[in-house]
Amino acid sequence: TGTTAQAAAATRPPTTNGSTPTTSVLHANLNSPPPKIVSASGNYLTTSTGTQIFDATGGAAVSCLGHAHPRVKQAIVDQLDTVEYTYSPFFTTDASERLAERLTKSTNGEMSKVFIVSSGTEAIEAALKLARQYFVEKGEPERTRFIAREQSYHGNTLGSLSVGGHKARRKVYEPLLSENVSFVSPPYPYRGMKEGESEEEYVQRLGQELEGEFQRVGPRNVCAFVAETMSGLTLGAVPPPKNYLQTIKHICDKHGALLILDEVMSGMGRTGTLHAWSQDSVTPHLQTVAKGLGAGYQPIGALLVHRHVVDVLSHGTGSFVHSQTYQGHPVACAAACAVQKVVEEEGLMQNVRELGPVLGKALQKRLGGHANVGEVRGRGFMWGIELVQDKPSKTPFPASKKLAATIHATGLREEFGISLLPGGGVADGTNGDVVMLAPAYNITREDVELIVERTAKVVERAL
Ligand code: PLP
Repeated sequence: TGTTAQAAAATRPPTTNGSTPTTSVLHANLNSPPPKIVSASGNYLTTSTGTQIFDATGGAAVSCLGHAHPRVKQAIVDQLDTVEYTYSPFFTTDASERLAERLTKSTNGEMSKVFIVSSGTEAIEAALKLARQYFVEKGEPERTRFIAREQSYHGNTLGSLSVGGHKARRKVYEPLLSENVSFVSPPYPYRGMKEGESEEEYVQRLGQELEGEFQRVGPRNVCAFVAETMSGLTLGAVPPPKNYLQTIKHICDKHGALLILDEVMSGMGRTGTLHAWSQDSVTPHLQTVAKGLGAGYQPIGALLVHRHVVDVLSHGTGSFVHSQTYQGHPVACAAACAVQKVVEEEGLMQNVRELGPVLGKALQKRLGGHANVGEVRGRGFMWGIELVQDKPSKTPFPASKKLAATIHATGLREEFGISLLPGGGVADGTNGDVVMLAPAYNITREDVELIVERTAKVVERAL
């Protein structure tokens, strides 16, 4: 994933006595591997030195059931005993059919087909290509432009990075990225809202900016607008302001362009509902999911396709000009089905809805008053603590002192026994202004207290 953890890792000092550690893995920091995890169970990771770390982020917002869940493990073994692999253009399997049906049903059939891949990035790549193919088949081949958002993250491959608005991640690869993408401001009230402006006025202004961009590139040239439903890593857990999603959907519909909502991080229950868009009653044309879909038990992502888009393709060439060897991998699909059953049957989204606000309030109470905490924000089990050098002016720390990255890099996780995710990044493209939390959906009230206390200690120490 394109986390700022990579940037953090790059600053990690060598761990051995000055000598180069032996590792053949090309780690984010080539000269210093991260700590090794030798076992993982429930919410705890155990390092090779025996330290127990509470996994308050599930990696990068992935392990939504915690680790070593017996039902998911059993489903994986059962699938291995049945069909471990088939090539999906040749044969289908019960596992992939069941997963796709579960996902389409969860949208009441509005999203009527599912393309199953192995990661969030691949789901985004598929979304961009499908959007383009849709318009070619519809007889509108002039639609080649994409509009995306600044400070966004959709993956690190060339297609996904082309629609990503993170300057530092793009910099080296800029000559290889598509020139058919332009960017508008993301919703980011903490920094984007003007003094005295109401939320309604702010959203109107963001809508005007998007409308202006459609006009600038020519509304009939636009293929799709790409946005995270709730911003994840690069802004650091920012929920969409009221009416924002309706506003952007309205603009896309008005110009006949598609809306691609990236729910790789915010989807599959992370914000308290299976689909984050359902909280604003906005259905996208294309939707990407990953992380919480398979909860880390297998690599899996998916593209959900709206029935109107499916109709055009079905009546056109009847095929999607894109396929991958591991598409619809049966073991990954079986694992994801098991994860989704556990989430449903154990009422875990209810837990996220109940304890999410409890976690947010406790973080606010414990850290909100700190001189270097600019904002505590989030939704469900996705929270961000934005750190600033100067609170009144919201001045960020300089690039050399990005604290969220420092926390990750300097052994504080091991010292205080908690894993935190460095996110955020101010407009200059530097990383690590936001400490992010994304715990498993099945944590308890006691876990919430532990998370808040340990997070606070880490932040206070780092500051
Ligand atoms: N989109 C969003 C919103 C993400 O947060 C991520 C990963 O962090 C991706 C896409 C890329 O997903 P993956 O790392 O599974 O390829």
